[in-house]
Amino acid sequence: MYKVRFVNPQKQYADHKEELLGAIDDILTRGALVTNKELSEFEQNFAKFLGVKHALGVNSGTSALDVALQAAGIGPGDEVVSVAHTFIASISTICLTGAKAVLIDVGQDFNMDASLIEKALSPKTKAILPVHFNGRLCDVEVIMQIAKSKGLMVIEDAAQALGATMKMSDGQTQKGGTFGIAGCFSLYWAKALGGPGTSGVVVTNDDDMAIKMRLMRYNGEDRESREFRHHAHNFLMDNIRAAFLNVKMKYLPGWLARRKEIANLYLKGLGDLKQVQLPYFNDSQREDIYNNYVIRAERRDELEEYFKKGELVETLVQYKRPMYEEPIMRETKDKMWRFGNDGNSLPETEKLSGEVISLPMYPELTNEEVEFVIKTLRDFYSS
Ligand SMILES: *Cc1c(COP(=O)(O)O)cnc(C)c1O
Repeated sequence: MYKVRFVNPQKQYADHKEELLGAIDDILTRGALVTNKELSEFEQNFAKFLGVKHALGVNSGTSALDVALQAAGIGPGDEVVSVAHTFIASISTICLTGAKAVLIDVGQDFNMDASLIEKALSPKTKAILPVHFNGRLCDVEVIMQIAKSKGLMVIEDAAQALGATMKMSDGQTQKGGTFGIAGCFSLYWAKALGGPGTSGVVVTNDDDMAIKMRLMRYNGEDRESREFRHHAHNFLMDNIRAAFLNVKMKYLPGWLARRKEIANLYLKGLGDLKQVQLPYFNDSQREDIYNNYVIRAERRDELEEYFKKGELVETLVQYKRPMYEEPIMRETKDKMWRFGNDGNSLPETEKLSGEVISLPMYPELTNEEVEFVIKTLRDFYSS
């Protein structure tokens, strides 16, 4: 057993056990299993938290992306610009529509380098799919401007960025996932807000898009007229998940604040260490939520081994190789995806894969545990 675990869902469950079990028991006792008031209550709470008009519960973040892309009408012959430094779902969901994913590089902050978008566009480009990685928003203002001037849709993969904000040049502060035609969230158990397994939400401010996404998440059925209008999957979030998440929604602001506190402890304890680069990028516009706390470290593989030896600190490396080196990507290059530059690689994406390592980051971490991570990391570099 590691001295400090990378994740600890049991701790959060223990802290809120009665309330969570009560909510689930209520659903099962009443037999109110699907599309009841718990789902719409959760959706309303989620929409209110984000400041967005419509939120629809689905069964995963991947399904959220599927629903958004399908409702947006993305399909064969289209291209969608995204990144390779992401979870495979951002890319797979594009490919599954029949459209081609066009992958560009990320910048120092692990997010889509917006200055590379225009070069990646073609007459087939229909949308941009930025991924707000690690709980930090992409350069959304620039991305939205490009999209507007080129007539493209923006579908945000906000799976890791629930509650992350951007102060816009008009002075308004806006949350990630609310900029484009749709925002896609994952409530996988290990994300900042975790369901009882897998869950997701897709949001929009566009009434027409909301109607289409509602059809796409549930068999193409218009729930009012009871007509089936599309061939579609069943991606619905059931009531047990909705009720469970509705309990957790109350604690989300506190949990996000605690994440920030932990990030500050890491900054205080490691900020002077020249062998690591911490995830701070000197801008006052953004508030990151640290869904993951990813550092760039010298001698990364040795560091990982040091943490592992003696079961000191459990860490995670995402990802050791660029996503385009996965078998499914190598086998489908130019058919299902292409690079958005003239080369055969994405330099920053490659560099990152040799340097990144994620430190434990969840609200239940104690200050002592964080101090232990800091001490262990410092010990490694001074040995
Ligand atoms: C987690 C994640 C997803 C997929 O979400 P699931 O709920 O696991 O299906 C998509 N994109 C990114 C960036 C993610 O981190």
